[in-house]
Amino acid sequence: MTTVAAYAAPAAKAPLERTTVDRRAVGENDVLIDIAFVGICHSDIHQVCEGWGKAIFPMVPGHEIAGVVAETGPGVTRFRAGDRVGVGCMVDSCRACANCKAGLEQYCTEGPVWTYNAVGKDGQPTYGGYAQKVVVDENYVVRIPQALSLDVAAPLLCAGITTYSPLRHWNTGPGRKVAVVGLGGLGHVAVKLAHALGADVTVLSQSLRKKDDGIRMGAGDYRATADPATFEDLAGRFDLILNTVSAPLDFGAYFSLLRTDGVMVNLGLPEEAAQLELQSLFGNRRSMSSSGIGGIAETQEMLDFCAEHGVAAEIELIGADGINDAYERVLASDVRYRFVIDVATI
Ligand code: NAP
Ligand code: ZN
Ligand code: ZN
Repeated sequence: MTTVAAYAAPAAKAPLERTTVDRRAVGENDVLIDIAFVGICHSDIHQVCEGWGKAIFPMVPGHEIAGVVAETGPGVTRFRAGDRVGVGCMVDSCRACANCKAGLEQYCTEGPVWTYNAVGKDGQPTYGGYAQKVVVDENYVVRIPQALSLDVAAPLLCAGITTYSPLRHWNTGPGRKVAVVGLGGLGHVAVKLAHALGADVTVLSQSLRKKDDGIRMGAGDYRATADPATFEDLAGRFDLILNTVSAPLDFGAYFSLLRTDGVMVNLGLPEEAAQLELQSLFGNRRSMSSSGIGGIAETQEMLDFCAEHGVAAEIELIGADGINDAYERVLASDVRYRFVIDVATI
């Protein structure tokens, strides 16, 4: 067992503060990772606030982990000390169910073991990446290609895979029209990925404040959702809408933007229940779906794709003493475009 410095919320809605956390001894198939950078995902804030239901405290959030292997267990075959690696939202799953066997560990029927705010197979709470080190089974660790710096790669471990997986599942490519709702952490990576896949991308943001950035990231069009003309102009246009907004939307208005057989995929996970008029789906056989992160093999595929196509997150690097302020700024939609913690400051 190793005791390492970490940042934790001691109770629901409490500010995060410096503390220590125990990591298990490196087991047969484990990798000990020196964490270099960790992204702040909006999901960290939902969970610290118990917005998704009862949570485990103290909570060390962080599931966008990038670092370097420090030590490996005797049974580890895929990594060795010095390798650049990442860990995302899950650190284990049953490995035997149909979903695990299909590489969809995120939909493990036993429930995956989440990186934090969960209980591991050893019966102990899991603690995330706002910490100096973490111990993870090698099967839930991915390799970060040399072409990606660790700081801008960290957010790809959640924001990257969460947007790449549905873009691929719904056949994003040349000739497809994709809208991304919300230009935050997930949204800005979604724009870059959809553009790299060859799609025609439109950003639907609350205002035009970030328009220049959206166009630079690869959007061909950028509209303000506060302007009712946006919904008239773009009616029936999109094959796919990726909704990354962390609050409920007027879904009917967005469904009207889908063409026949178009699909709106909700990636945002609001804390409140949403209202839905089913009539707004019935026209043009539209559908509504959702998607959760992506499997381990697909996460590796996404990182390799990003390295090949020059896709990375745009980040604001902060010290650990800036975490609580960063949370306030994310809640105010004032993020450009992912806060990443320099773990050396913990
Ligand atoms: P984020 O950085 O805060 O981005 C969300 C963006 O949505 C904001 O920047 C803002 O963009 C827009 N927005 C925020 N509040 C809004 C409102 N009331 N009305 C309209 N637009 C609003 O958050 P994130 O880290 O990308 O995460 C987004 C959501 O996805 C969260 O709910 C998170 O928990 C969830 N999530 C889901 C998965 C999954 O597997 N499905 C994985 C990770 C995260 P504009 O200013 O451009 O409008
Ligand atoms: Zn996340
Ligand atoms: Zn399983």
